[in-house]
Amino acid sequence: MEYYSLNNSAHKTTFREAVIRGIAPDRGLYFPEEIRPLPKTFFDEIEILTRHEIAFRAIHQFVDRDIPKEKLEEIVANILDFDFPLVIIEDNVSTLELFHGPTMAFKDVGARFMANCLGYFSERKNKKVTVLVATSGDTGGAVANGFLGVEGVEVIILYPSGKVSEIQEKQLTTHGQNIIALEVEGTFDDCQRMVKTAFLDDAITTKRKLTSANSINVARWLPQLFYYLFAYKQSKRYGKEIVFSVPSGNFGNICAGLVAHRLGMPTKHFIASTNVNDVVPNFMNQGRYEPKPSIATISNAMDVGDPSNFIRIQQLFNNDFEQLKTFFSSYSFSDEATKEAMQSVYQRTKYVLDPHGAVGYLGLKQYQETNSNTFGIFLETAHPIKFLPVVKETLDINLEIPPQIQKVMDKTKKSSFIRTYAELKDFLITTS
Ligand SMILES: *Cc1c(COP(=O)(O)O)cnc(C)c1O
Repeated sequence: MEYYSLNNSAHKTTFREAVIRGIAPDRGLYFPEEIRPLPKTFFDEIEILTRHEIAFRAIHQFVDRDIPKEKLEEIVANILDFDFPLVIIEDNVSTLELFHGPTMAFKDVGARFMANCLGYFSERKNKKVTVLVATSGDTGGAVANGFLGVEGVEVIILYPSGKVSEIQEKQLTTHGQNIIALEVEGTFDDCQRMVKTAFLDDAITTKRKLTSANSINVARWLPQLFYYLFAYKQSKRYGKEIVFSVPSGNFGNICAGLVAHRLGMPTKHFIASTNVNDVVPNFMNQGRYEPKPSIATISNAMDVGDPSNFIRIQQLFNNDFEQLKTFFSSYSFSDEATKEAMQSVYQRTKYVLDPHGAVGYLGLKQYQETNSNTFGIFLETAHPIKFLPVVKETLDINLEIPPQIQKVMDKTKKSSFIRTYAELKDFLITTS
């Protein structure tokens, strides 16, 4: 399978190059040249397939020549060593819990897949690869965990000082080894801008081979399609048309879901649920895409003012707005509404939603107001413990700290503070 740049379809490359580069030289996102549907029998028999079989068969065409079959089987087994349970909350409303991995956020799967691929590709190269990544919270932890100890790869994480939760900060600053945390005076957008500038800075790129671990990287983006297949396997038996609601920030996760649909997974509709960062809901209403500065919310992993993967979604629908509208909706919710959803679900069912999952829940309910006879699945993208202060305050409860979180809370933070791009540049050059 080849990948082309969304800025120029003539620029083609392999999976391997797409992973190593992250983004095409013309700054376009890579996109698979072709998505071949899986055989119908795959979906007919999905109940009898294991998690590993499902994932292997779904991802194989996207990596085919660049990773041998045995290695890919090993990678899939490595990264999918935890559960993805579907939990029924109400009639026709269920949640797919994606938080049972090592950092308890759904980004674990993509980050581990990318780390395994990059580790494999750099085995036979002598130049070290530097993964440079900006995080608003969850990405950093998942990437740090996924890449820890991977040979030939150094990871440098930029995060906004004071703007990530205590648990998130511990998850990205306590590893040591090949993982370096830089605490930036500024917002997530500032971190992101610095990273983007560094990628274009020859003084840095001649010294270091840089790649990104954001969801623009195909190795982080595509494996997220597994979730939807795991959900489909568990919900087929309810015999209704399935709809997914995905709490969305950069729109990588939902875009992977749309790829699962393109592989032939029967689905009626996809809903992208956002907080007040509503660029995509506005686009769906007005047909105009207008990026804005991001606004801080309680679902902060989705505070994105210019979602990078939306362009891939448009590509999947041939940039045809009418076609997109028939299959994809997007709704925005305030922090107030999010808290109310957390409270009402908790009071009625005792289920504890994290703020991101609550936004997903709200989007699903809104869609079902006019499409009641559907089986709804919203994705729970983080364990509520990761957003403990909000959950505690909203629900007036205490949560037990799971062992994989306690383990990092006991460790010591280690980070360097930077204020300007010049300081980042200096750091990247002098430490290379
Ligand atoms: C990253 C993240 C999201 C948003 O996912 P995208 O793929 O960027 O849309 C939602 N919830 C949580 C908890 C996250 O960490």
